[in-house]
Amino acid sequence: MVNEESATLRTMKLNPRPKAALPPERTDLDPQDWASDRAQAHRMLDDMLDHLQGLREGPVWRPMNEAARAAFHSPLPRAGEGIAAAHADFMDQVLPYAAGNTHPRFMGWVHGGGNVAGMLAEMLAAGLNANLGGRDHAPVEVERQVTRWMAELFGFPEESSGLFVTGTSMANLIAVLAARAAALGPDSRIEGVGEAGTGLTAYASEAAHGCVSKALDIAGLGSAALRKIAVLPDGGIDTGALAEAVAADRAVGLDPFLLVGTAGSVDTGAIDDLAALAEIARRERLWLHIDGAYGALAVLAPELKPLLIGIERADSIAFDFHKWGQAPYDAGFILMRDAEAHSAAFATAAPYLQRRPRGLAAGEPWPCDFGPDLSRGFRALKVWFAFKAYGASAMGEAIAGTCRAAHALAARVDEESELERLAPAPLNIVCFRYQGSDALNAELVVRLQESGAYVPSTTTIGGRLAIRAAIVNHRTTREDATGLADEVLRLGRVLAASGAYA
Ligand SMILES: *Cc1c(COP(=O)(O)O)cnc(C)c1O
Repeated sequence: MVNEESATLRTMKLNPRPKAALPPERTDLDPQDWASDRAQAHRMLDDMLDHLQGLREGPVWRPMNEAARAAFHSPLPRAGEGIAAAHADFMDQVLPYAAGNTHPRFMGWVHGGGNVAGMLAEMLAAGLNANLGGRDHAPVEVERQVTRWMAELFGFPEESSGLFVTGTSMANLIAVLAARAAALGPDSRIEGVGEAGTGLTAYASEAAHGCVSKALDIAGLGSAALRKIAVLPDGGIDTGALAEAVAADRAVGLDPFLLVGTAGSVDTGAIDDLAALAEIARRERLWLHIDGAYGALAVLAPELKPLLIGIERADSIAFDFHKWGQAPYDAGFILMRDAEAHSAAFATAAPYLQRRPRGLAAGEPWPCDFGPDLSRGFRALKVWFAFKAYGASAMGEAIAGTCRAAHALAARVDEESELERLAPAPLNIVCFRYQGSDALNAELVVRLQESGAYVPSTTTIGGRLAIRAAIVNHRTTREDATGLADEVLRLGRVLAASGAYA
């Protein structure tokens, strides 16, 4: 502890050394006056906690005006103005114009709400400035522990491998690359996918996220190698059609290698029959990958966990802690059953990355053996911290709470004759619309966003525009959720009466 300040330190605090008096040889960026930067740091923390505590009182979102946008066109500062001035700019120019996904009435897209433990952990992680590409240090053990926790949660073997990545787009790509290497063998990493690669085919439902076909594209197999299988009325993949597609491809000499199941489709929250997929994958010898970007963490909630039965039989699972896991962005994760298959797809030897049995270069395998990144930040800490601070049960309760809020909204929509529900709402996403045209509903959503009262987004269901409320934020209450229906009714009547959106 350094609480006992020396007389000199006290004097220095009172009389911060003027910049000009600095010895010219000093080129470090550390505080010139630790005491005043410390006070500034506490102010910044207080300002952010005040902001979070007062979220409800402010608008969800506000559009940036010209003046606010113009501030971002000032030239590169050559002389610094200090942390306090930079923070003042942040408070004026950035904070008021954020997307609003921390706000309880934000229901657009699938955005997580963040949490205070995670925010504080981000500060610690940045202070430590750990590089989690490899080497033998405790931060890597934190990531390994989260990996073991996830293996436990999903019923995977304890030796499973895992890696924090930006998001599920990257996690899905890692799974596709691992499945590709497993199908084509290690030489394909040297020779390229070649002739054999052109025959590889993959399968996912029509409701699969666009990043799955993008992953096949990036993997050099072409997005056309992904067969998009029809969905049943509940939004889950038609497993009969899937089996037929695999058989048809085999019959013409193609090489089915990968099946991607969706656990929580981005449009409606639909979950494929994962147990049936596991059975098909076993029978057809396909790599089974689950895109559980937001839905997989439903395993944390005892009442939702049964929806995911079969996920424990997958070869890999991709998901985001930054959605239902409420971690601050970004925190995607890939969990892989077979650590050797995982590293076989990514590990490379380099003289400057030699491993040693002892010293800081010990501790194989390194995280860089499991993905494309070498330098990596300490994403794991904010997740490790939240599990420790809140506990897995509370995290599961937060997830279940968003589903209860969504079900209340769905029930409210069903009661109102002017509102129409467009899809089942098994989890936390409600797709509905006000009676009338697509144009009316599109305008309604924009006005709602601009009013600052609510932020839903839109999607298309069965060729019709849907108002989509994805309730992901742990702060959203049932009243917040049903209040959206009230606002939609109010605005819908105004727009209908205007006669401009027939
Ligand atoms: C959000 C989402 C993705 C993409 O994840 P990112 O973290 O945004 O990269 C993929 N699949 C599904 C089902 C999603 O909901």
